[in-house]
Formats: sequence, structure tokens, C-alpha cells
Amino acid sequence: MKRILLVEPNFPIPAKSKNHCNFLPIGLLKIAAYHRSLGDSVELHRGNFQANKRPDEIKVTSLFTYWSKQVWESVQYYKELYPSTRMEVGGIYASLMPEHAKASGSDDVKTGLYKKGIAEDFEPAYDLVDVDYQIVHGSRGCFRKCNFCGTWKIEPDVTYKKSIKDEIRKRKVVFYDNNLIANPHIKDILSELAEYKFPDQSRVYCESQSGLDGRVLIKDPGIAICLKKARFQHPRIAWDGPYAHWPKIKAQIQVLRDAGFRADDIFIFMLFNHELSYEEMRAKLDACRRWKVRVIDCRFRPLNSTADNYKPNAKSQDEEEYYIHKGWTDRQVRAFRRAVRRQNIALILDLPNGRYIKGVERRYIPT
Ligand code: SF4
Repeated sequence: MKRILLVEPNFPIPAKSKNHCNFLPIGLLKIAAYHRSLGDSVELHRGNFQANKRPDEIKVTSLFTYWSKQVWESVQYYKELYPSTRMEVGGIYASLMPEHAKASGSDDVKTGLYKKGIAEDFEPAYDLVDVDYQIVHGSRGCFRKCNFCGTWKIEPDVTYKKSIKDEIRKRKVVFYDNNLIANPHIKDILSELAEYKFPDQSRVYCESQSGLDGRVLIKDPGIAICLKKARFQHPRIAWDGPYAHWPKIKAQIQVLRDAGFRADDIFIFMLFNHELSYEEMRAKLDACRRWKVRVIDCRFRPLNSTADNYKPNAKSQDEEEYYIHKGWTDRQVRAFRRAVRRQNIALILDLPNGRYIKGVERRYIPT
């Protein structure tokens, strides 16, 4: 029996969001289940601190490349504490930048899925965290190849499940698929969720961490109806293309509306600080205001960026501190984020024409 120490570095996630479904170290939870099946004991550390007993193996996870500093800190902390214990780093940053991750001092770097086809199939050890939802992968990889996305590099093989019914344990199911509805069996999976009943007759509801592929929705609007029947929450569509694509995005929103989703349920992901200019992004934002759908802004950082010191509340910063795309300025990055936030507030409060009124949130939202 080995003692396995699993480490989630001290990522800059607020304490109250550690267990948010966007940040759960699901890979580590699967590795924990896998090692338990071998008879090993497992300890999960969320941050850096001494283990109960000297571990035989240490496995450190990683997330975005620009959070590499925290990974290095964990590697160095545990290497100093347990110099003879074999250590490996895995996860997203390790898969995208293995050489850089190796330079942290780790003995080994694991790229891609951990023990593909083995640990991957284990039910995550949820007892190590305190969550009221479960995470499911209905597919791996993505058949598209967007230039700003690392999915197709980390998970180059696209695989689809036909069913997830036997995996359902909790009332809330969160899909971690990169392109959920590209799965040719998605309607069957959604029907399983729609029909599933727990012994007390309660039902399942679900959501997806990533956006829905709007082009797939247009091809098969029946998927939107299945999503609604499966009690899918907060559908999000990505609008990464130019403003000229607005008729397509409008049509994708309409497919969701026709299936019964309300406009205030729907979100649009928007990548900014990238190839489209500030002015064009503002035009896209304005279209979302007219359609009364909220926006989730995603600030672009290159896939090989190993640091990001952007401070949302700073008055100004320069490109030494965080990545500013050519054609953008620090002022525009801040102005765009502010405009998104204000527009979302105006839509939540149902202000006339979705137009923000200065200070309105202080009047309506208790702080
Ligand atoms: S569709 Fe989404 S997951 Fe697929 S490559 Fe593009 S951004 Fe990545």
C-alpha cells in the first residue's frame, strides 16, 4: 500500500469559490479513486501544508498556463519537505508546456489524460471535497480547432459516450465536456437526464461549464428542445467571430428561445483583447443588449503565457504586467469589462433599453 499525496496548488481562487464547479480538481479526484482501488491511501491538499505521514508519491495538478507560478511554488514546497519522494505534475499547464513544468523541479510531467482509459473511468472521490453536484464528461476533445483554444492539443482524440445514466448520483449534473452537443448521442444522453428519477421522485437538472456550439444548434434545433426537457440551466453560446456574424448568433439564440429558454437565462461568451477591435467588440455587446442576453467576457491570454498580473481594480497597468493584444490598450480592456458588467446589471434590473444608469446597482443590490 502506498501513500499518495494529491496537491492542488494555491491558485488565486477566492476561498468561497474553491468548490465552485468551475474549479473543482476533478482530475485529482479521479486519481484518488484509482489509487484507492489499488489499496493505496490518499490525502488531498488544497494548498501547501505538511502531510499526515511522509508520502510515497506526490501528484500536483495544474490549470491555466498563466497560473504556473502557483504550481512551481507547490513543487518547490513539497520537494523541500519530502526530497526523496517521487513527484509528478499533470493537468492543463503541464500538458501545454511540459518543458516549462519540468523546470519547476518536478521529477516527471504527465501530459494529456491521466492513465487514459484507466483512471479516467473512475468515479471521482467526492468525499474528499464538499459539493452538492457531480461532474460528468459525456465526451472528450473537440472536433473544431479554434486557434486560441488548447483543448484539441490536450485531448487530441475525440471520444463520445452513448449513455451516462449509470453515472448519475446527484441532483445537479455539471458537464465538463468541451463541446457537449457535438456528441452524436447527445439527444439520448439528454433524454436519460430528462427521465431520470431518484427513489424520492426528485429529478436531475444540469448545466455545462463550456459554451454550447451554436452551429450545431442551428443544424439540429431538436437538441435545444432536449436540453430544455433535461432541465438544462443557463445555456451559453460563444460569439468569437466578427460583428457581421450577428444574424447567425441571433438565430442561435432564437433556437434556444423557441425551445423555451428565456432571454435572461441565456449568456453569450465573448473573447476580447484578441483579434477583433475594441469598437467591434462594443458593437457585439450592443447587439446582446438589444437581444436582452447577458455576456460573459473572456480576456484573451496566449496559450503559452506563464504569468498574468492583471489587477481588475487597478487604475492602469502596462503590457509588462499582463498580456495586452496588439490593437488593444489597457484602457480599452478595462472599459470593455466595465461595459459588460454594467450592461449585465441593466439587464438583470430590467432597466429601460438595457441601458445602465450610474450607481443603479447600489440602489437595488444590497452590498
Ligand atoms: S469549439 Fe470550443 S472547445 Fe472546440 S476548439 Fe473551439 S473553443 Fe475549443
